[in-house]
Amino acid sequence: MPISLYNSLTRRTEPFAPLDPERVTMYLCGPTVYNYVHIGNARGPVVFDVLARLLRRHYPQVVYARNITDVDDKINAAAQEQGVPIGTITERFAQAYRDDMAGLGVAPPDIEPHATAHIGPIIKMIEDLLAGGHAYAAEGHVLFDVSSFPAYGELSGRDTDELIAGSRVEVAPYKRSPGDFVLWKPSTPDLPGWDSPWGIGRPGWHIECSAMSAAHLGDTIDIHAGGIDLLFPHHENEIAQSTCAHGGKVFARWWMHNGMLTFDGRKMSKSLGNVLLLHELLKLHPAEALRLRLLSGHYRQPLDWSEGAIAQAVSTLDGWYRVLRDLADIELPAGDLPVPAGVEAALCDDLNTPQALAELSVLADAARQSGTAAAKAALLGGGALLGLLQQDAEAWFKRDSGQAIDAAHIDALLEERRAARAARDFRRADAIRDELAAMNIAIEDGAQGTRWSVQKS
Ligand SMILES: [Zn+2]
Repeated sequence: MPISLYNSLTRRTEPFAPLDPERVTMYLCGPTVYNYVHIGNARGPVVFDVLARLLRRHYPQVVYARNITDVDDKINAAAQEQGVPIGTITERFAQAYRDDMAGLGVAPPDIEPHATAHIGPIIKMIEDLLAGGHAYAAEGHVLFDVSSFPAYGELSGRDTDELIAGSRVEVAPYKRSPGDFVLWKPSTPDLPGWDSPWGIGRPGWHIECSAMSAAHLGDTIDIHAGGIDLLFPHHENEIAQSTCAHGGKVFARWWMHNGMLTFDGRKMSKSLGNVLLLHELLKLHPAEALRLRLLSGHYRQPLDWSEGAIAQAVSTLDGWYRVLRDLADIELPAGDLPVPAGVEAALCDDLNTPQALAELSVLADAARQSGTAAAKAALLGGGALLGLLQQDAEAWFKRDSGQAIDAAHIDALLEERRAARAARDFRRADAIRDELAAMNIAIEDGAQGTRWSVQKS
Protein backbone atom coordinates (compact mmCIF):
# COMPACT_ATOMS: atom_id res chain seq x y z
CA MET A 1 0.00 0.00 0.00
CA PRO A 2 1.71 3.27 -1.08
CA ILE A 3 2.16 6.05 1.46
CA SER A 4 1.19 9.64 0.59
CA LEU A 5 2.30 12.54 2.76
CA TYR A 6 1.50 16.22 2.68
CA ASN A 7 4.62 18.28 2.06
CA SER A 8 4.54 21.79 3.58
CA LEU A 9 7.19 22.88 1.08
CA THR A 10 5.20 22.04 -2.08
CA ARG A 11 1.83 22.45 -0.30
CA ARG A 12 0.69 19.18 -1.85
CA THR A 13 0.09 15.60 -0.78
CA GLU A 14 2.65 13.55 -2.67
CA PRO A 15 3.38 9.82 -3.00
CA PHE A 16 6.21 9.16 -0.58
CA ALA A 17 9.42 7.45 -1.69
CA PRO A 18 12.71 7.69 0.20
CA LEU A 19 15.89 8.67 -1.63
CA ASP A 20 17.36 5.27 -0.70
CA PRO A 21 14.59 2.67 -1.16
CA GLU A 22 16.09 0.63 1.68
CA ARG A 23 16.42 3.39 4.25
CA VAL A 24 14.22 6.27 5.37
CA THR A 25 15.74 9.19 7.25
CA MET A 26 13.57 11.35 9.47
CA TYR A 27 14.32 14.21 11.86
CA LEU A 28 11.96 15.75 14.42
CA CYS A 29 12.83 18.95 16.28
CA GLY A 30 12.90 17.94 19.93
CA PRO A 31 12.48 19.78 23.22
CA THR A 32 14.53 22.51 24.87
CA VAL A 33 15.05 20.87 28.23
CA TYR A 34 14.58 23.37 31.05
CA ASN A 35 11.21 22.34 32.52
CA TYR A 36 8.41 19.82 32.09
CA VAL A 37 6.67 19.84 28.71
CA HIS A 38 2.97 20.53 28.30
CA ILE A 39 0.50 18.30 26.52
CA GLY A 40 0.72 20.43 23.36
CA ASN A 41 4.43 19.54 23.07
CA ALA A 42 3.48 15.86 22.98
CA ARG A 43 1.35 16.02 19.87
CA GLY A 44 4.25 16.01 17.39
CA PRO A 45 6.15 13.16 19.08
CA VAL A 46 2.97 11.02 19.23
CA VAL A 47 1.91 11.75 15.63
CA PHE A 48 5.40 11.15 14.24
CA ASP A 49 5.75 8.03 16.38
CA VAL A 50 2.78 6.64 14.44
CA LEU A 51 4.47 7.71 11.19
CA ALA A 52 7.69 5.94 12.26
CA ARG A 53 5.70 2.77 13.06
CA LEU A 54 4.08 2.93 9.61
CA LEU A 55 7.38 3.55 7.82
CA ARG A 56 9.05 0.68 9.69
CA ARG A 57 6.39 -1.64 8.28
CA HIS A 58 7.10 -0.45 4.75
CA TYR A 59 10.89 -0.10 4.67
CA PRO A 60 13.76 -2.30 5.84
CA GLN A 61 15.38 0.56 7.77
CA VAL A 62 14.12 3.79 9.29
CA VAL A 63 16.58 6.11 11.00
CA TYR A 64 14.61 8.48 13.18
CA ALA A 65 16.40 11.30 15.01
CA ARG A 66 14.80 13.55 17.63
CA ASN A 67 17.18 16.06 19.16
CA ILE A 68 17.59 17.49 22.63
CA THR A 69 18.31 21.23 22.76
CA ASP A 70 20.53 21.45 25.81
CA VAL A 71 22.02 24.91 25.36
CA ASP A 72 19.65 27.85 25.23
CA ASP A 73 19.05 31.15 26.99
CA LYS A 74 16.00 29.74 28.83
CA ILE A 75 18.19 26.93 30.17
CA ASN A 76 20.84 29.47 31.22
CA ALA A 77 18.21 31.53 33.04
CA ALA A 78 16.87 28.46 34.88
CA ALA A 79 20.41 27.36 35.84
CA GLN A 80 21.33 30.82 37.14
CA GLU A 81 18.11 31.10 39.09
CA GLN A 82 18.76 27.76 40.79
CA GLY A 83 22.52 28.30 41.10
CA VAL A 84 23.43 25.05 39.32
CA PRO A 85 25.36 24.20 36.12
CA ILE A 86 23.20 23.94 32.98
CA GLY A 87 23.91 20.18 32.86
CA THR A 88 21.99 19.71 36.11
CA ILE A 89 18.91 21.28 34.55
CA THR A 90 19.22 19.67 31.13
CA GLU A 91 19.92 16.14 32.37
CA ARG A 92 17.00 16.28 34.76
CA PHE A 93 14.50 17.51 32.19
CA ALA A 94 15.81 15.41 29.30
CA GLN A 95 15.12 12.37 31.48
CA ALA A 96 11.71 13.74 32.48
CA TYR A 97 10.96 14.16 28.78
CA ARG A 98 11.99 10.57 27.98
CA ASP A 99 9.84 9.33 30.88
CA ASP A 100 6.83 11.37 29.74
CA MET A 101 7.19 10.12 26.17
CA ALA A 102 7.55 6.51 27.34
CA GLY A 103 4.41 7.07 29.42
CA LEU A 104 2.54 7.99 26.23
CA GLY A 105 3.81 4.88 24.46
CA VAL A 106 6.16 6.86 22.19
CA ALA A 107 9.02 4.59 21.12
CA PRO A 108 12.46 6.16 21.68
CA PRO A 109 14.01 7.63 18.52
CA ASP A 110 16.94 5.75 16.95
CA ILE A 111 19.19 8.74 17.60
CA GLU A 112 18.80 11.43 20.24
CA PRO A 113 21.52 13.98 19.43
CA HIS A 114 22.35 16.65 22.01
CA ALA A 115 23.42 20.11 20.82
CA THR A 116 26.30 20.38 23.34
CA ALA A 117 27.76 17.12 21.99
CA HIS A 118 27.92 18.62 18.46
CA ILE A 119 29.75 21.91 18.97
CA GLY A 120 32.52 20.73 16.59
CA PRO A 121 30.17 20.01 13.64
CA ILE A 122 28.28 23.24 14.39
CA ILE A 123 31.48 25.33 14.21
CA LYS A 124 32.51 23.49 11.04
CA MET A 125 29.17 24.27 9.38
CA ILE A 126 29.43 27.94 10.34
CA GLU A 127 32.96 28.04 8.88
CA ASP A 128 31.63 26.55 5.64
CA LEU A 129 28.87 29.17 5.52
CA LEU A 130 31.43 31.95 6.05
CA ALA A 131 33.70 30.51 3.36
CA GLY A 132 30.79 30.32 0.94
CA GLY A 133 29.84 33.96 1.50
CA HIS A 134 26.57 33.08 3.26
CA ALA A 135 27.53 34.41 6.67
CA TYR A 136 29.50 37.22 8.29
CA ALA A 137 31.16 37.77 11.64
CA ALA A 138 30.45 40.93 13.62
CA GLU A 139 31.14 41.84 17.26
CA GLY A 140 31.72 38.24 18.38
CA HIS A 141 28.59 37.09 16.55
CA VAL A 142 28.29 35.18 13.31
CA LEU A 143 25.14 35.87 11.30
CA PHE A 144 23.55 34.20 8.33
CA ASP A 145 23.21 36.61 5.43
CA VAL A 146 19.65 36.02 4.23
CA SER A 147 20.24 38.01 1.04
CA SER A 148 22.78 35.35 -0.02
CA PHE A 149 20.03 32.71 -0.40
CA PRO A 150 17.40 33.69 -2.97
CA ALA A 151 15.09 30.79 -2.00
CA TYR A 152 14.74 32.16 1.54
CA GLY A 153 11.04 32.32 2.41
CA GLU A 154 9.96 29.46 0.13
CA LEU A 155 8.75 27.25 2.97
CA SER A 156 6.82 29.93 4.84
CA GLY A 157 5.70 31.84 1.77
CA ARG A 158 7.14 35.07 3.16
CA ASP A 159 9.39 37.27 1.11
CA THR A 160 12.44 38.93 2.54
CA ASP A 161 11.29 42.51 1.84
CA GLU A 162 8.05 41.84 3.67
CA LEU A 163 10.03 40.47 6.61
CA ILE A 164 12.16 43.56 6.79
CA ALA A 165 9.20 45.92 6.43
CA GLY A 166 7.25 44.01 9.07
CA SER A 167 10.09 43.93 11.55
CA ARG A 168 9.06 46.12 14.51
CA VAL A 169 11.73 45.04 16.95
CA GLU A 170 14.85 47.11 17.25
CA VAL A 171 17.50 45.64 15.00
CA ALA A 172 20.75 44.65 16.67
CA PRO A 173 23.61 46.91 15.50
CA TYR A 174 25.75 43.98 14.33
CA LYS A 175 23.11 42.86 11.80
CA ARG A 176 23.44 43.99 8.19
CA SER A 177 19.78 43.29 7.59
CA PRO A 178 16.90 42.68 10.07
CA GLY A 179 16.17 39.23 8.58
CA ASP A 180 19.72 37.95 9.23
CA PHE A 181 19.84 35.43 12.04
CA VAL A 182 22.41 34.35 14.59
CA LEU A 183 24.60 31.29 14.00
CA TRP A 184 27.00 31.94 16.87
CA LYS A 185 26.93 34.41 19.75
CA PRO A 186 29.50 35.46 22.34
CA SER A 187 29.28 34.23 25.94
CA THR A 188 30.27 36.23 29.00
CA PRO A 189 32.16 34.23 31.68
CA ASP A 190 28.92 33.58 33.64
CA LEU A 191 27.37 31.80 30.64
CA PRO A 192 28.20 28.44 29.04
CA GLY A 193 30.65 28.92 26.21
CA TRP A 194 32.97 27.06 23.89
CA ASP A 195 36.17 28.16 22.22
CA SER A 196 35.66 29.10 18.57
CA PRO A 197 37.36 31.10 15.80
CA TRP A 198 35.09 34.00 16.90
CA GLY A 199 35.93 33.83 20.60
CA ILE A 200 34.22 32.06 23.50
CA GLY A 201 30.60 31.67 22.61
CA ARG A 202 27.66 29.37 22.01
CA PRO A 203 25.56 28.36 19.00
CA GLY A 204 22.31 30.04 18.00
CA TRP A 205 19.34 27.70 18.12
CA HIS A 206 18.69 27.05 14.41
CA ILE A 207 22.17 25.83 13.47
CA GLU A 208 22.10 22.83 15.81
CA CYS A 209 19.36 21.03 13.87
CA SER A 210 21.13 21.58 10.54
CA ALA A 211 24.45 20.33 11.94
CA MET A 212 23.05 17.33 13.85
CA SER A 213 20.80 16.25 11.00
CA ALA A 214 23.78 16.27 8.60
CA ALA A 215 26.04 14.51 11.13
CA HIS A 216 23.65 11.59 11.65
CA LEU A 217 21.39 11.39 8.61
CA GLY A 218 23.41 12.95 5.77
CA ASP A 219 23.15 16.17 3.75
CA THR A 220 19.73 15.30 2.31
CA ILE A 221 17.07 13.71 4.50
CA ASP A 222 13.67 12.28 3.56
CA ILE A 223 11.42 13.81 6.21
CA HIS A 224 11.84 16.77 8.51
CA ALA A 225 9.02 17.18 11.02
CA GLY A 226 7.97 19.59 13.73
CA GLY A 227 5.17 21.75 15.04
CA ILE A 228 3.67 24.36 12.73
CA ASP A 229 4.95 27.01 15.17
CA LEU A 230 8.50 26.07 14.09
CA LEU A 231 7.87 26.57 10.37
CA PHE A 232 9.03 30.16 10.60
CA PRO A 233 11.68 31.16 11.33
CA HIS A 234 13.25 27.92 12.63
CA HIS A 235 12.66 25.62 9.67
CA GLU A 236 13.10 28.38 7.12
CA ASN A 237 16.50 29.06 8.69
CA GLU A 238 17.42 25.37 8.79
CA ILE A 239 16.78 25.14 5.04
CA ALA A 240 18.91 28.22 4.37
CA GLN A 241 21.84 26.98 6.49
CA SER A 242 21.84 23.37 5.25
CA THR A 243 21.31 24.18 1.58
CA CYS A 244 24.06 26.83 1.56
CA ALA A 245 26.51 24.74 3.61
CA HIS A 246 26.03 21.76 1.27
CA GLY A 247 26.54 23.48 -2.07
CA GLY A 248 22.84 23.78 -2.90
CA LYS A 249 21.84 20.18 -2.13
CA VAL A 250 18.21 19.70 -1.08
CA PHE A 251 18.03 19.56 2.72
CA ALA A 252 14.71 17.84 3.49
CA ARG A 253 12.54 16.28 0.79
CA TRP A 254 9.34 16.28 2.88
CA TRP A 255 8.47 18.89 5.47
CA MET A 256 5.70 17.81 7.82
CA HIS A 257 4.07 20.05 10.41
CA ASN A 258 1.56 19.22 13.11
CA GLY A 259 -1.10 21.71 14.18
CA MET A 260 -1.23 23.25 17.64
CA LEU A 261 -3.31 22.28 20.63
CA THR A 262 -5.90 24.66 22.04
CA PHE A 263 -7.47 24.33 25.47
CA ASP A 264 -11.24 24.74 25.59
CA GLY A 265 -10.90 26.72 22.38
CA ARG A 266 -8.13 28.99 23.63
CA LYS A 267 -4.41 29.07 23.07
CA MET A 268 -2.45 27.24 25.76
CA SER A 269 -0.16 29.79 27.37
CA LYS A 270 1.46 30.64 30.65
CA SER A 271 -0.23 34.03 30.75
CA LEU A 272 -3.70 32.45 30.47
CA GLY A 273 -2.76 30.00 33.23
CA ASN A 274 -4.08 27.03 31.24
CA VAL A 275 -0.84 25.17 30.63
CA LEU A 276 -1.36 21.45 31.23
CA LEU A 277 1.88 19.65 32.02
CA LEU A 278 2.04 16.19 30.50
CA HIS A 279 3.78 15.00 33.66
CA GLU A 280 0.67 15.96 35.70
CA LEU A 281 -1.88 14.67 33.18
CA LEU A 282 -0.18 11.27 33.21
CA LYS A 283 -0.88 11.03 36.94
CA LEU A 284 -4.56 11.90 36.49
CA HIS A 285 -5.58 9.97 33.37
CA PRO A 286 -4.75 6.69 31.68
CA ALA A 287 -1.87 7.37 29.28
CA GLU A 288 -3.58 5.59 26.38
CA ALA A 289 -6.54 7.95 26.68
CA LEU A 290 -4.18 10.93 26.32
CA ARG A 291 -2.55 9.27 23.32
CA LEU A 292 -5.91 8.46 21.74
CA ARG A 293 -7.04 12.06 22.17
CA LEU A 294 -3.84 13.34 20.55
CA LEU A 295 -4.53 11.07 17.56
CA SER A 296 -8.24 11.82 17.34
CA GLY A 297 -7.83 14.81 15.02
CA HIS A 298 -5.91 15.02 11.76
CA TYR A 299 -2.36 16.04 12.62
CA ARG A 300 -2.36 19.11 10.35
CA GLN A 301 -5.46 20.60 11.99
CA PRO A 302 -5.56 22.34 15.36
CA LEU A 303 -6.81 20.06 18.14
CA ASP A 304 -8.87 21.18 21.10
CA TRP A 305 -8.13 19.72 24.51
CA SER A 306 -10.74 19.55 27.26
CA GLU A 307 -11.71 17.41 30.23
CA GLY A 308 -14.72 16.24 28.22
CA ALA A 309 -12.51 15.10 25.37
CA ILE A 310 -10.35 13.04 27.74
CA ALA A 311 -13.46 11.44 29.28
CA GLN A 312 -14.63 10.58 25.77
CA ALA A 313 -11.28 8.94 25.00
CA VAL A 314 -11.46 6.91 28.23
CA SER A 315 -14.94 5.76 27.34
CA THR A 316 -13.86 4.72 23.82
CA LEU A 317 -11.02 2.66 25.31
CA ASP A 318 -13.40 1.19 27.91
CA GLY A 319 -15.51 -0.11 25.02
CA TRP A 320 -12.57 -1.64 23.16
CA TYR A 321 -11.03 -3.15 26.28
CA ARG A 322 -14.43 -4.59 27.27
CA VAL A 323 -14.43 -6.52 24.00
CA LEU A 324 -10.89 -7.74 24.67
CA ARG A 325 -11.77 -8.72 28.23
CA ASP A 326 -14.73 -10.75 26.98
CA LEU A 327 -12.38 -12.50 24.55
CA ALA A 328 -9.60 -13.00 27.13
CA ASP A 329 -9.83 -16.80 26.82
CA ILE A 330 -9.65 -16.79 23.01
CA GLU A 331 -6.12 -17.70 22.04
CA LEU A 332 -4.48 -15.55 19.36
CA PRO A 333 -3.34 -17.17 16.11
CA ALA A 334 0.41 -17.90 15.99
CA GLY A 335 2.77 -15.34 14.46
CA ASP A 336 2.75 -11.56 14.19
CA LEU A 337 -0.48 -9.66 14.68
CA PRO A 338 -2.07 -8.79 11.33
CA VAL A 339 -2.43 -5.14 10.35
CA PRO A 340 -5.99 -4.64 9.11
CA ALA A 341 -6.14 -3.06 5.64
CA GLY A 342 -8.57 -0.33 6.71
CA VAL A 343 -6.27 0.96 9.46
CA GLU A 344 -3.22 0.80 7.23
CA ALA A 345 -5.00 2.53 4.32
CA ALA A 346 -6.08 5.37 6.61
CA LEU A 347 -2.53 5.92 7.86
CA CYS A 348 -1.05 5.67 4.35
CA ASP A 349 -3.37 8.53 3.39
CA ASP A 350 -1.32 11.34 4.96
CA LEU A 351 -1.60 9.78 8.40
CA ASN A 352 -5.36 10.00 8.69
CA THR A 353 -5.54 8.92 12.33
CA PRO A 354 -9.23 9.88 12.87
CA GLN A 355 -10.12 7.47 10.06
CA ALA A 356 -7.80 4.81 11.53
CA LEU A 357 -9.55 5.17 14.90
CA ALA A 358 -12.95 4.83 13.21
CA GLU A 359 -11.65 1.62 11.61
CA LEU A 360 -10.60 0.40 15.05
CA SER A 361 -14.15 0.91 16.32
CA VAL A 362 -15.46 -1.15 13.40
CA LEU A 363 -12.95 -3.90 14.26
CA ALA A 364 -14.03 -3.82 17.92
CA ASP A 365 -17.68 -4.26 16.89
CA ALA A 366 -16.73 -7.12 14.59
CA ALA A 367 -14.74 -8.81 17.36
CA ARG A 368 -17.62 -8.45 19.81
CA GLN A 369 -20.09 -9.93 17.35
CA SER A 370 -17.98 -12.77 15.98
CA GLY A 371 -15.89 -13.57 19.04
CA THR A 372 -13.24 -15.16 16.82
CA ALA A 373 -9.50 -15.29 17.31
CA ALA A 374 -8.97 -13.63 13.91
CA ALA A 375 -11.21 -10.68 14.83
CA LYS A 376 -9.46 -10.27 18.17
CA ALA A 377 -6.06 -10.35 16.44
CA ALA A 378 -7.20 -7.72 13.92
CA LEU A 379 -8.32 -5.38 16.70
CA LEU A 380 -5.02 -5.81 18.54
CA GLY A 381 -2.99 -5.47 15.32
CA GLY A 382 -4.75 -2.25 14.33
CA GLY A 383 -4.26 -0.93 17.85
CA ALA A 384 -0.55 -1.78 17.80
CA LEU A 385 0.08 0.31 14.67
CA LEU A 386 -1.43 3.27 16.52
CA GLY A 387 0.29 2.41 19.81
CA LEU A 388 -3.06 1.66 21.48
CA LEU A 389 -4.56 -1.37 23.25
CA GLN A 390 -1.09 -2.17 24.54
CA GLN A 391 -2.14 -3.39 27.95
CA ASP A 392 -3.95 -6.33 29.41
CA ALA A 393 -7.70 -5.71 29.33
CA GLU A 394 -8.12 -6.80 32.93
CA ALA A 395 -5.37 -4.39 33.99
CA TRP A 396 -7.09 -1.54 32.13
CA PHE A 397 -10.21 -1.91 34.27
CA LYS A 398 -8.25 -2.38 37.47
CA ARG A 399 -5.92 0.53 36.87
CA ASP A 400 -4.85 2.63 39.74
CA SER A 401 -6.48 6.03 39.42
CA GLY A 402 -4.31 7.72 42.01
CA GLN A 403 -5.53 5.53 44.90
CA ALA A 404 -3.74 2.48 46.17
CA ILE A 405 -5.56 -0.60 44.90
CA ASP A 406 -5.01 -3.86 46.73
CA ALA A 407 -6.24 -6.35 44.15
CA ALA A 408 -5.72 -9.36 46.42
CA HIS A 409 -7.85 -7.76 49.11
CA ILE A 410 -10.62 -6.98 46.60
CA ASP A 411 -10.54 -10.53 45.25
CA ALA A 412 -10.79 -11.84 48.82
CA LEU A 413 -13.82 -9.63 49.52
CA LEU A 414 -15.48 -10.81 46.30
CA GLU A 415 -14.86 -14.41 47.27
CA GLU A 416 -16.39 -13.76 50.69
CA ARG A 417 -19.39 -12.11 48.99
CA ARG A 418 -19.80 -15.11 46.70
CA ALA A 419 -19.78 -17.43 49.70
CA ALA A 420 -22.25 -15.19 51.58
CA ARG A 421 -24.62 -15.24 48.62
CA ALA A 422 -24.32 -18.97 48.27
CA ALA A 423 -25.25 -19.25 51.95
CA ARG A 424 -28.14 -16.80 51.30
CA ASP A 425 -26.57 -14.29 53.73
CA PHE A 426 -27.64 -11.30 51.60
CA ARG A 427 -27.09 -8.80 54.36
CA ARG A 428 -23.38 -9.70 54.48
CA ALA A 429 -23.18 -9.77 50.65
CA ASP A 430 -24.68 -6.27 50.42
CA ALA A 431 -22.37 -4.98 53.15
CA ILE A 432 -19.39 -6.18 51.10
CA ARG A 433 -20.75 -4.48 47.97
CA ASP A 434 -21.07 -1.23 49.97
CA GLU A 435 -17.57 -1.64 51.34
CA LEU A 436 -16.23 -2.03 47.80
CA ALA A 437 -18.23 0.97 46.59
CA ALA A 438 -16.66 3.03 49.36
CA MET A 439 -13.27 1.97 47.94
CA ASN A 440 -14.41 3.21 44.50
CA ILE A 441 -14.66 -0.34 43.17
CA ALA A 442 -17.60 -1.16 40.92
CA ILE A 443 -18.67 -4.78 40.58
CA GLU A 444 -20.56 -6.46 37.83
CA ASP A 445 -22.11 -9.93 38.15
CA GLY A 446 -22.17 -11.90 34.94
CA ALA A 447 -22.08 -15.34 33.40
CA GLN A 448 -18.33 -15.51 33.88
CA GLY A 449 -18.53 -14.61 37.57
CA THR A 450 -18.08 -11.24 39.22
CA ARG A 451 -15.80 -8.63 37.67
CA TRP A 452 -14.58 -5.48 39.26
CA SER A 453 -13.17 -2.22 38.00
CA VAL A 454 -11.94 0.99 39.50
CA GLN A 455 -14.57 3.69 39.19
CA LYS A 456 -13.60 6.86 37.40
CA SER A 457 -13.97 9.79 39.73
ZN1 LIG B 1 14.96 22.09 14.72
